[in-house]
Amino acid sequence: MLLYTRAVAAPSDLLDSLRRYWGFDSFRPLQEAVVRSLLSGRDACVIMPTGGGKSLCYQLPAAMLAPKTAVVISPLIALMQDQVLRLNEMGIPAALLNSSLGPLEQERVLRDAVEGRFRLLYLSPERLARPETAEWLRSAPISFFVIDEAHCISEWGHEFRPEYRQLNLLRDRFPESPIAAFTASATRRVRHDIVDQLRLRDPHLSIASFRRPNLRYLVRECDLRSQPRLLLDAVRRYAAQGNVIVYAPTIERVERTVGFLAEHGIAATAYHGQMDARTRRRNQERWMTDEVRVLVGTIAFGLGIDKASVRAVIHLSLPKSLDQYYQEAGRAGRDGLPADCILLWRKADAGLLAHFIMQIGDAAERDRAWHRYREIRAFVESGLCRQSQICLHFGETPRWTSCGSCDVCAGVPDWLVAKEAPETPRRKKRNRKGQAPAPVSVAAPASAKAEGAASHIASSGGEASAAVSVEPPSSLRESLREWRRVTAAARGVPAFVVMHDTSLDDLCRVRPRTLDELLEVHGFGERKVESYGKAILEVLRRFPR
Ligand code: ADP
Ligand code: MG
Repeated sequence: MLLYTRAVAAPSDLLDSLRRYWGFDSFRPLQEAVVRSLLSGRDACVIMPTGGGKSLCYQLPAAMLAPKTAVVISPLIALMQDQVLRLNEMGIPAALLNSSLGPLEQERVLRDAVEGRFRLLYLSPERLARPETAEWLRSAPISFFVIDEAHCISEWGHEFRPEYRQLNLLRDRFPESPIAAFTASATRRVRHDIVDQLRLRDPHLSIASFRRPNLRYLVRECDLRSQPRLLLDAVRRYAAQGNVIVYAPTIERVERTVGFLAEHGIAATAYHGQMDARTRRRNQERWMTDEVRVLVGTIAFGLGIDKASVRAVIHLSLPKSLDQYYQEAGRAGRDGLPADCILLWRKADAGLLAHFIMQIGDAAERDRAWHRYREIRAFVESGLCRQSQICLHFGETPRWTSCGSCDVCAGVPDWLVAKEAPETPRRKKRNRKGQAPAPVSVAAPASAKAEGAASHIASSGGEASAAVSVEPPSSLRESLREWRRVTAAARGVPAFVVMHDTSLDDLCRVRPRTLDELLEVHGFGERKVESYGKAILEVLRRFPR
């Protein structure tokens, strides 16, 4: 046992590593406690909303526990590839072992891993379950195991993956190694399942609040006629301010929606499971780099997507569960700025969900599906604050009852109601708990509401123009973007691996003149400054202040 690696790290050590590798100034809530817990060798179960910063919780201790290696299990190859690229960009040696590598390359990774060359090694659950993998891992210096997207292990979760069940072998095979489970979506039941299945020992339990104060949930029942118009209105508004994700229930609806938006002069890109991997990746990349602001996808889109400036996530049908909805809608506003989650559902969706549930052969699974169905219907129909419903669903007991910004608490903004009124006057009368009907409650901007959340975009009818065109961005920003695009293409990595949107924003704000000043910019650690510093300063120099 290497006791010195388990010694308590001084706060300055942690912050030093955070600055050096990530270029961040401070931890987000709960991160530091999780990092410390992992450094001390304890099991952990961490539940933190999408965008909360889970990766850093295990990547930082992994980086600090040299010469050992953290073994990370993650469900998607694309996700693992992105993580590995980013870590290497930051100067943290990491590798991925999967079937996309040729036999020779796999050999090399195996050899290097045994020699302790990596701080992190990513594996699929299937690969880990193979007896020869366990055999080989025993000769590698393991710091701890990480199970990312750990809800996949539970049949009660919305993304159950049978392969994850095999992870229950870990404890037996590696009784010495700590195990840390991470997920963004776990009810109490799923949480217990995770702890049981992985046989966690007195885990450090870390549960962040599921409240996302910058998100405004707007639920709107509509019909076949009103839905396309509302979609169009919504997309026009939000695409003028940032990126938009539209979730459609089927591949056919994805294609149709992209066509419909194009007919109305809005460029959108599609994403679904039946595209070949290259097209899918290219479409995603076009959206990630803001070449196209709007992405229309099935639920296949989004796991692990780290795009900061998504201003709205729009659903065109009732999701299968509240967990799923929370996770998908949660891709909005990762930058902490106001963003809207708009659920445009129809009664027919519920019928369709029920129809599919009735086809499920396995009785237990059918019961679980009905349970989820009831929860999501209650969410859209109950007339309780949407934020508080979500918190309650995940086992929190919020001390507040009104978020002050969702459609229940603050009404639907006028552009979401006004047009439909003449067509289906019935809906106008809909009233919740004796409150004034929604259409009247649009005047006050969200900022005036409780909690002092920043003013919500597109909240008042003021900017109802159909302007899709974005205000011309400053040419500095454009140039930096272009530099990023070219650099990423030349290196064959996605643009966000080179530099995140938030870093780009910060660059425009700070306008560093020296490499030292560049180190102060959000997201610029030592390695990044070394790799790109000169080139970036060069671009900046072309735009004197
Ligand atoms: P999650 O896995 O919880 O959905 P990620 O690990 O992908 O979230 O992190 C989301 C974003 O937050 C990333 O862009 C990450 O770089 C950023 N982030 C994480 N921790 C911090 C921090 N302490 N300071 C600033 N940004 C952070
Ligand atoms: Mg994650």
